Amino acid sequence: MFVVMRTGATEAEVNGVKGLILAEGLTPFESATATRQVIALVGEVGRRRDDLRARLETMSGVASVTPISKPYKLVSREFQPEDTVIRVLDSAIGDGSLTVMAGPCAIESREQLLETVEFVAAHGATVIRGGAFKPRSSPYSFQGLGVEGLRYLAEARERTGLPVITEVMEPSQVDIVADYADILQVGTRNMQNFSLLLACGRAGRPVMLKRGFGATIEEWLMAAEYIASAGNPQIILCERGIRTFETSTRNTLDLTAVPVLHHLTHLPVVVDPSHATGKRWLVKPMAIGGVAVGADGIMVEVHPRPDDALSDGEQSLTFEMYAQMMDAIVAVHGHVKDLHGDLDRAGMGALAGGGS
Ligand code: PEP
Ligand code: MN
Repeated sequence: MFVVMRTGATEAEVNGVKGLILAEGLTPFESATATRQVIALVGEVGRRRDDLRARLETMSGVASVTPISKPYKLVSREFQPEDTVIRVLDSAIGDGSLTVMAGPCAIESREQLLETVEFVAAHGATVIRGGAFKPRSSPYSFQGLGVEGLRYLAEARERTGLPVITEVMEPSQVDIVADYADILQVGTRNMQNFSLLLACGRAGRPVMLKRGFGATIEEWLMAAEYIASAGNPQIILCERGIRTFETSTRNTLDLTAVPVLHHLTHLPVVVDPSHATGKRWLVKPMAIGGVAVGADGIMVEVHPRPDDALSDGEQSLTFEMYAQMMDAIVAVHGHVKDLHGDLDRAGMGALAGGGS
């Protein structure tokens, strides 16, 4: 549940509410917007719920106490109706602009990375991607350059002025990756690595959480809740395809997840058509689809010579294909942006009522 404070509530009144929450062994999470100050109670409330609610409701400075019906709390629209906007360097994610995260699957060399980022930065990318620690299905495949790759990524940021995102695979890597990267990426295979999620929650950097290839949307949001509950509300969700019976594509891109997520959560949503399809000729149409259904951005893999790539070459775009895709999605974004605004993307009407 969450407590909405009266407009103009004093610091003492806010502290009174937080004190009661703490005394109950729960954690208070504050979220203040221009219009209201809200304190969420996080923790196992169990059978104390009705009693706690009644006590909070009578406290000085409290306007209302509202239950959250979903198992995820901090990331829910019920708790925060306004979209989360994540700002890194000069890029904003979730503010209605089109985020484009582009770069190679794996950083293979300084030259390969810089050649790629210079091209994508000159053609509309807003975030640079590149894997330094690679989660490969085979232990015999290229595992990434590690810290050497992180250094090249930092150089790419200096050259382009764009923020950089890269994957972190285990809790012990979080500090070093956070030293170099602007956004931490948690990959599909690690979506439910709870100790990694908590470590990312404490890292003080935005986190992009990719959907587990076998995860439901609710499991995905619960994973995001781990990051938020550790103190980090700066989370981006990335739909990258799920495993189904279909074998024509590497995964099945669940585009319905985009409007469903916008309905359930205030977090920005990015679509990754590269890992979803596994085929470069399918990346442009599915990127168009992602933007058309209202995604806040896309993430794509680009390589100067995809056929020589050490990782995911089949799904990596050539420079030319990347430029063509950009032309298409920028145009589509221009068309759909206003439509989604009109359609009340949060579907807040449907959220009214219910709750426990
Ligand atoms: C990646 O983006 O480099 C990656 C490994 O993606 P995923 O975790 O979605 O497979
Ligand atoms: Mn890849």
